[in-house]
Formats: sequence, C-alpha cells, structure tokens
Amino acid sequence: MKNKILTSVMITVLFAIIIVVSSFMIITNLEQEKFTTEELRNINYLVSELNNVTDISNNNYEAIRELNTTKINGIDVRFTLIDNNGVVLYDNEQLSGENHKDRVEVKEALANGQGYSKRYSDTIKAYLIYYATKLKNNYVIRSSVSINTITLLQKENIKYCLGILALVIPFSVFLSLRLVKKIVDPVKELESVTLKMAHGDYEIRADINTNDELGTLGNSFNNMAEQLQLKIHEVIDNQNKIESIFKSMESGVIAVDNHDNVISINPCAESLLGIRKNIVGQCLLDYVNDYDINKFLQEEGESDKEIKILHPIERDFKIKKSEMFDGAENIGKVITFQDITDINRVELMRRQFVANVSHELKTPLTSIKGFAETLKFVKDDETREKFLDIIDKEAERLSRLINDILVLSKIESNLTIDMEEFEPRIVIEEVLNIMRKIAVNKNIKLEFKDTSDKKVLGNRDKFHQLVLNLVENAIKYSKDDSGKVEVFSYDKDEYYCLIVKDNGVGIPKEDIPRIFERFYRVDKSRKKGGTGLGLAIVKHIVKLFNGEINVKSEVGEGTSFEVKIPDI
Ligand code: ADP
Repeated sequence: MKNKILTSVMITVLFAIIIVVSSFMIITNLEQEKFTTEELRNINYLVSELNNVTDISNNNYEAIRELNTTKINGIDVRFTLIDNNGVVLYDNEQLSGENHKDRVEVKEALANGQGYSKRYSDTIKAYLIYYATKLKNNYVIRSSVSINTITLLQKENIKYCLGILALVIPFSVFLSLRLVKKIVDPVKELESVTLKMAHGDYEIRADINTNDELGTLGNSFNNMAEQLQLKIHEVIDNQNKIESIFKSMESGVIAVDNHDNVISINPCAESLLGIRKNIVGQCLLDYVNDYDINKFLQEEGESDKEIKILHPIERDFKIKKSEMFDGAENIGKVITFQDITDINRVELMRRQFVANVSHELKTPLTSIKGFAETLKFVKDDETREKFLDIIDKEAERLSRLINDILVLSKIESNLTIDMEEFEPRIVIEEVLNIMRKIAVNKNIKLEFKDTSDKKVLGNRDKFHQLVLNLVENAIKYSKDDSGKVEVFSYDKDEYYCLIVKDNGVGIPKEDIPRIFERFYRVDKSRKKGGTGLGLAIVKHIVKLFNGEINVKSEVGEGTSFEVKIPDI
C-alpha cells in the first residue's frame, strides 16, 4: 500500500510538472510569436514610410539595404520585395526565382494591404513568421524571421526540467512519505489489532489519535471491539453455564444429528454406556453395543422405554428421545438416559420387605392362634401349661419382631436424632450389665477390655442399641458352658474402634455378605428365636455414625465384628 501511494503521488507530481511546464512553453511561444509579428509589422511600416520618401523600385533598393542589419531577438530579419505579379525583385538573403503570388501572406497583402503567415522552412530548418505589407507602388514588402519555438526536448530545457525535477522530487517524496505514514500507520495498527482479536485477544484496542477520518474509523473500530467483547463474554458465560449443567447432570444426555452422528455427549452418558473416548462427530450406533438401545434409537415413533443393559455393568435405564429443532427445521434428536437401577432395587426391596414382614408376623400368629384354639379342648394341666408357654414365647417373639421393625423403620426414615458427646465405655458397661445375667445363665464368660479415651459424637441410645445387638448375638450364637464373649474398645488413628468377639458357631463364608440384610438368618429354622433384623439395625446405626463395620468369622471357631467410628 505504501508503495502504491508513493507511486501514485510521484506519477501525479510528474504529470503536474509536465503539464505546467508545457503550458508555460506554449504561452511563451505564443507570446514570442505575437511579439515577433508585431515587430515585423513595425519594420514593414518603416519600409512603407521609406517608400514614401524614396520610391523603392527600379533597382533602387538602398533604403531596404539600410535595414539589412535589423534583428529581432538577435536574429537577422529577411526582407523580400515582390512586385504585384509575384516576381521577387529583391531579397537580402537568397533571391528566389519562384513566383511568390500564391504565398499566403503575399496574397493577403495584395488583397487587404497586410498579410501574415507562419510556415516551416525546409531551407533553414525552422519556423518562419512572414509579414507582408502592400506599398504605395503596389509592391509588397515582406519581412520574415525565424522563431525559436521552445520545446521540452531542447537540450537546455531538458537541463532546466531535470533541475526542477531534482528539486521537486525529493521534496515530494518527503511529503509523500509523511502522508503515507499518516495513512498507513493507522491502517497497520488496525490490521495488527484485528489479527490479535482474531487470535482471541478481545481486550486489545486500536491506538489511533488523529482528528480525521482514520481517527473516526479507529474509534468506531474500538466501539465495535467493545461490543464484540461484551457479546463474546456473554456467549462464553452462557456456554459455560450450559456446559457445567450438562456435565453435572445425573442423567445421561446425548444430542445426535439426523445421521446419528454425536453432536454432544455428557460424562454421565459416557459412563452409563461405557464409552471411554471422545465420540463427538462419530456415529453413536457404532459405540452402543446394546441391541435394545440400538433398536430403540433407530425406531421411529417410540419416545421412551425401560431397558436393561448388561454391559459395562448390569443396569436398568429409562431412555427418552425427543426431536431437536432449529426454528422449523428438524436437526436431530436428544436422547436422555436415566439410571433407574437403584429405584428398581429399592422398589424390589420394599416389595420383599412387605412380603418378609407379612411372613415373619404370620408364623408366630399362626402358632399362637393354633395353640390358643387347641387350648380350649385341653383338660390336662401339664399340657395346658406347655401350650401357654409356647403361646407366651411366640407372643414374645412377635413383640420383639414388631419392636425391631419399628426401630429399623425409625432409623431408616432418617428422622433427625439428638446428638451428644458420650463416653462409649459407659454405654458398653451398661449393655454388659444388662446382658451379664443371661451370660451367667448360659455359663458364658463376658469380658470387657477398654483402652480408649476418646469420646463419640452421636445418638447415645442408638450406640446402646448397636452394642446390645452385637453382644446379644455373640451370647446367642456362643456355645453354652464353654462360651466366651470379649468386647474390646480402643483408639486407632482417627477412629474409635469396638470389637465384639465370640468363640461360638461362626458364620459360613457364603452367608457373610448377606447377614446385614433384613430378615436374613443363617439358621432358617429360627431355633435361636432371632428376628433377622438385629444386624440390619446395627448396619444402619453404624451408617448414622459415618462409620464402617467388618466381620471375620470361621465356622465352629467364632465370630468377630469390628465397628470403626471416625473422630468428631
Ligand atoms: P437374628 O435376630 O436372627 O440374630 P441378626 O440380624 O442379628 O438376626 O443376625 C442375622 C444372622 O447372622 C443370624 O441369623 C445369625 O445366623 C448370624 N449371626 C449374627 N451374629 C452372629 C454371631 N455372633 N455368631 C454367629 N452367627 C451370627
């Protein structure tokens, strides 16, 4: 651009110089011609006056000869005397034999008294101005002189021109460079700012401080950049918000175009479908291995469905698909995946729980009802006593069952419970005091070793229930007479730990993972009279304390439950 402007300016300057110089030369030439003509007319007038005094005829040319040395602008004037028939009578330079009657100036002079003409003379290789005046004796005196037409190509003129150019060109180059700098610098600034903006620097502004159109352009550009920056921030902000919502959604969301190519997929959908790489732009169907999902995605019409998948892990999904529109144009589909595995499991558990509760309640009730009815017909006191004992035992079991169900449902309903700081040792001792009588009756040793000096934060009654259930079980599943139940209470790192250990019947390996389930009993015959809810209650209480529970057991050797409760 700089070179273009410079070249244009230089061409304009040269053109202007040529025009000015040429005009000047033309004017000078015209002036020169006018002046010369005037001079020639004056000289002719002089000759005609002389003729009045001495008749210039019959070889009497002395008067004209007197004028031989006449010069105009230093050039000798040529005089020619022509008679009225065009015959040249006298010429002070070269007498021509040609008849001059048809010469323009002679013709005009014979007709009007004066005649003028300008011609190029091949003889003297110059332009000549001829001026003819008719004398009294009808002769014509013609004076002529060559004129120096000034042209650009003349040596001395070229010198002048070069001189002028040598002065004007550096000056115009200097001015042009300044002008170019004034124009180009802001343009360059705009160019560099635009480039930086295109590379993401929206803070940058153009620094143009001129009071002309370029300054206005710079201000408009900066305003535009300001607006652009605001809009881009807004767009990025919205996009970030949408992206973080999209990413943190607990449902899987996939957007696909009309060819099932993925437009967007959130992390939840990737993990639900076991997709480990970025599949944006690729066909979703290539990455979904499940036949049912593939079929659902390809089917028209159906908009939601519950599907069980086996890969990557077994899960239940609720899938929904809906059309995606850009204005009126359908641009693809949005597919949402909701993991309903937990909902289904909870629902199943609820149904099983109801069935279990009904079954558990029905057993002692049937027994009570049966014995009570039979009792009416029993006369024998001993049998009556036996039957009443059974009814009492069953009623006791029923009450325990109901009690355990209530405790469990209270814990599960997550009702806010009183929290307090308590010394676990005191609670354990309370429990052991309650259980000591039963242990003594069964001839089971009950020992307590406490090295803890930590306090536990939580509900004291729940902790009491936890210890009670564990110690109760330990005594229940210990062998009479040779049984030994040990309770250890100690601190380990940032945990308070409780171990309840017995040398009883132990739990088979395959049952260990299930003993915390509600109503689960290893011995299905209910010989020990348990409700199957004790450990379920323990598990929930441990959860309330943010703790964890572990079991170690060997059949025939004993069982050890370890509870770890984190520090306050
Ligand atoms: P239950 O009321 O039947 O004792 P729990 O929920 O307390 O119910 O225990 C579930 C099952 O775990 C019991 O039926 C029993 O078979 C087994 N179990 C629990 N504690 C012990 C233990 N200390 N020794 C052996 N088996 C145990």
